[in-house]
Amino acid sequence: MPKKIIAANWKMNTTVAEAAELLDGLKAGLPVAGVTSVVCPPFVSLHQASQALAGTGIGLGAQDMHAEPSGAFTGEISVTMVAELCSYVILGHSERRHVFGETDESVNAKVHSALAAGLIPIVCVGETLQQREAGNAGRVVTGQLKAAFADVSDVAGTALVAYEPVWAIGTGRAASKNDAQEMAALVRGQLTVLFGQDSGSSTPILYGGSVKAENVADYMAMADVNGALVGGASLEAEGFTRLTENAASP
Ligand code: PEP
Repeated sequence: MPKKIIAANWKMNTTVAEAAELLDGLKAGLPVAGVTSVVCPPFVSLHQASQALAGTGIGLGAQDMHAEPSGAFTGEISVTMVAELCSYVILGHSERRHVFGETDESVNAKVHSALAAGLIPIVCVGETLQQREAGNAGRVVTGQLKAAFADVSDVAGTALVAYEPVWAIGTGRAASKNDAQEMAALVRGQLTVLFGQDSGSSTPILYGGSVKAENVADYMAMADVNGALVGGASLEAEGFTRLTENAASP
């Protein structure tokens, strides 16, 4: 089973000055033995973050990217630009899907492009409350996975999946550990169908949705959960360090 991974999604928070301060705070306590830490600041702070984190063992990711390497796409940040600074990229986050109209097809294009550039995509999947209440959570997540990885030949060691139920993101209403486990097992099963046993069992699966220092250990104890994608609780250095420590033990 892969090492534990705790990834921080800062979303649209922190100015450049605030990001520098947060990075300093994180460097004081991270990484924690046995846990891979990844931070995903806003684009404008990626350059300083790549310098601040060099040699620390803390990984750097972007929150999104454009699949094309360059071109007439005003306002976009390309895969090439991200790959110059980062090792990871979050793709298909529910806020991109639901607020900005990201489609399964564009997530798939970005997954191909990220993998080709040597970036590790953190591919986000998750159902809405309405879909869960209609009994469709499994079908939705399976569909998102198939679409995100369409025509990808393998993901062994090259991608992460984050199961993030939309209703749990930023709401304080975290999924139960059993629901997180059930969906992580479903994700693992689908990866096995798509890519075989090796990829199915070795691909890290993160849970995301209102994870904090107080509940992270519950998720980490589940058989198919290898880590967490953390939004709100990643914006304060001491709290995020404590969260990471709690993820590490036992
Ligand atoms: C996220 O942004 O991916 C997330 C899970 O946010 P939060 O931890 O705030 O729910």
